[in-house]
This record gives sequence, structure tokens and C-alpha cells, in this order.
Amino acid sequence: MEKLVSLCKRRGFIFPGSEIYGGLNGTWDYGPLGVELLRNVKNAWWRDNVTTRDDIVGLDAAILMHRTVWIASGHESNFTDPLVDCKTCKARFRQDQIAESQCPKKPSKKPGEFTECQLTEARKFNLMFKTFVGPVEESATQVYLRPETAQGIFVNFKNVCDSSRMKVPFGIAQVGKSFRNEITPKQFIFRSREFEQMEIEFFCKPETSQEWYTKWRDQRFQWYQDLGLKGDNLRLREHGKEELAFYSIGTSDVEYKFPWGWGELEGIAHRGDYDLKQHMQHSGKDLSYFDDETKERFVPHVIEPSAGATRSVLAFLCEAYAEEMVEGESRTVLRFHPRLAPVKAAIFPLVKKDGMPERATALYKDLQKSFHVFYDEKGAVGRRYRRQDEAGTPFCITIDGQTNEDQTVTVRERDSMKQERIGLDKVKGYLFQKLG
Ligand code: ATP
Repeated sequence: MEKLVSLCKRRGFIFPGSEIYGGLNGTWDYGPLGVELLRNVKNAWWRDNVTTRDDIVGLDAAILMHRTVWIASGHESNFTDPLVDCKTCKARFRQDQIAESQCPKKPSKKPGEFTECQLTEARKFNLMFKTFVGPVEESATQVYLRPETAQGIFVNFKNVCDSSRMKVPFGIAQVGKSFRNEITPKQFIFRSREFEQMEIEFFCKPETSQEWYTKWRDQRFQWYQDLGLKGDNLRLREHGKEELAFYSIGTSDVEYKFPWGWGELEGIAHRGDYDLKQHMQHSGKDLSYFDDETKERFVPHVIEPSAGATRSVLAFLCEAYAEEMVEGESRTVLRFHPRLAPVKAAIFPLVKKDGMPERATALYKDLQKSFHVFYDEKGAVGRRYRRQDEAGTPFCITIDGQTNEDQTVTVRERDSMKQERIGLDKVKGYLFQKLG
């Protein structure tokens, strides 16, 4: 994990937030490669769940919402973690995570086990960040930064029904920032105070909800596999009855085996009609649905696949990271799925003469219109390959002496390191085909 964190910093994937001021715990900044990786994860999700489906539409709701939204959703009273303080060392812990925590004064022991520990009773700590709208800081103007994107979808259910031709069963998808004042942000970007989510609320008839739940659970599990998270490191875990929220009929988590153990990437929950009913009650608006065909009116049931975009980025990074020996030298490589790779291809002139840089630049400029590509003419070509391996670039395309004679280039593939020659005019088609 340390190696990955340092690679992320060194190569511009992820930096600690506000670093020149000593950092702000639980915040992370995505650098030039990281922003591409994160965007590719979100784009892959959007394409696979919205663009290529007829039964899902998108939404981008405001981060600041009316306070009553969070009273209705239950977050104001229930979105809490049990906080325990140590009076001796002033450290704070989540009570349910003490078993996996260390005493700061005696790291070989857990909090509470060292003789000097003085742990308080657990108290409820609400994870929502508070702020105020307008210049007066009083309870009437208090709002929260959203701790999930889902509520923006529920409060717009009627707007989407009225303005689009969507008919139940259908879903609304949203990607965006969420904020949680986590007691102990940790494990790099896994648990942050500001992060991104990718959520769908899928509305269906109550009698079909079990079927949709199973479908979504399986589809979402498959999605991670299609993007390269391998069998042994990925599992689907059905919650036991005791783990379920009181309104939930069923929940499954997609979990990834991080270097420190299993962690949730996404929860797929059967939420029944809980959310729409809560918002009907608090807003006084009718959020029921009228089915034109059967002439029935009902409150739809909801299946919610709720994924972490930034947390998935960490899983994709962990899975991609590899060190291996190649001809007596070690190479570090990020084996991203081509759809996720920040840079799709690097374009090199073999040497800086004989018209090679000009031809390579022309190819680069042309490819730039379709892909995120990178041009590099500095240093030995072997070193340029290694730099691209570390960035996870799946293809390196080299213009050499032969290019001028027969209009071909070499394409070197990241994982196999095999090279093949293809026609200069075939490069774009080749990349389109390989990048999916
Ligand atoms: P956890 O138990 O890890 O706190 P959760 O069960 O509260 O997570 P949900 O409320 O189901 O999480 O949120 C849906 C998804 O949002 C999670 O599966 C995760 O990918 C992401 N997520 C939640 N909290 C964080 C966080 N603090 N940092 C990064 N991603 C998060």
C-alpha cells in the first residue's frame, strides 16, 4: 500500500489535500493522471448504466438541499457513528472499529487495552457537515452538505416523471460529490471526508421488486469484473437480517480485498417504498405513480445500487499495481483495463531527427481529437516505455526510420510488451477497437 501511495504522489494520481499547509485530514486532490482515471471510472459507469440503457435517465441535483430532506430521510436523527474519546491521549475512535485500531501511545495494543487508556462511553456523532445559507448563522438558515447523492433523486422523482416519458420500471442515475465528517478517515482515499458517489434509484412495481433486486445485484457485481477486478479479490456479500436497516428488505455489498482486508465498493439495497413515503409525509406532495395501462396508483419500490467512485478508483489502482522483473530489471506497471487507463496511447519518435518528430507530432495531433494521448521525445525509448508502464498507458506507438519508407509504426502493448507493426492509417481504428 505504501508503494502505491507513493507512486500516486510521484506520478500525479493523488495528492494529500491542502498539502502545502500541512494537509487537511480526509481530503485528497486528484492530479493530472488521477483526474483522468476518476473521470474514466465515472464515464464507464455512466455509459454502462445510463447511455446504453433505455430505462435509466440522468440527473445532477444541488449539493445543498432543504434541511427537511435530511429530516425526512432519517439522516438528521440517525446518520451517526458511535464516537469514543481517550482522555489520556485525546485520540478519537469509532467504537465499532476499536478492534481494528491501535492505541496511539502503545501501538501493539488496541485502544482501551493499555494501562493509561481512559476511554469515554460511546456517544452518537452525526456525520453530516453543517453550513448556513445566507449571512446569518442561525438554526433557521442551517443546511447540510449532502452525505449521499440519493436524496437528490428522490426529491426529483415527480419532476422526472412529469418531464420525461419514463414509465415504471425505470431508474434515475446521479454521479457527484458527497461529504461525511468521518471520525477516522483512513486507508488513503478509501474513507475520505469528501468523496464521489455513483448512485441509481430504480423505481419498480412492488410485486416485481425482488426480481429487480436480484438483477441489479448481479449486474453490478459483473460490472467490476468486466473492468478487471479479478475473482479472488472480489465478492458479493448478502447482508444478514441483523445488518439490515429497519426499512430494507435486502442488501448486498460488492466487496474488494484491499491490502488491509475486505472493504465495500458498492451496496445494492432493496429499500421498499420507504424513501418516497417519507418524502410524501414531510413535503405533503403526492409522489405516487399512476400506471396508464393498468389504471393503478401505487408508490413504487426502489432498488438502490450505490457505489463509491473514488473508492472504486482505489480498488482499480490496487488491482492494477504490479512489480515484475524484465530482463534483469524491475518494472512497475499499472495494468488498468484500457477503458480506465488515464492515457490511452503514448506517441514517440524513435529519435529526434530525420523528420520523425514531425511525423509523430502529426499523428499525436490527429489522435488527440479522439483519445487522451501523450507525446514524448525525451530519452531512450526503453525508459519512455517504463514511464508509460507506471502510468498504466496500454499502448506506445513509435515512429521510426521505417515509417517513412512503408508508412508503418510499431505498437507496443503494455502487459505483454509485444510489438507489432501496423499501418499509420490503421492506428486510429486499432485504438478504437482495443479501447472498447
Ligand atoms: P462504510 O460502512 O464503509 O462507512 P457505508 O455503508 O456507510 O460505508 P453507503 O452509505 O452505503 O456506505 O455509501 C455507498 C458507497 O459510497 C460505499 O459503498 C462507498 O463506496 C462510498 N463511500 C461511503 N462512505 C465513503 C467515504 N467516507 N469515503 C469514500 N467513499 C465512501
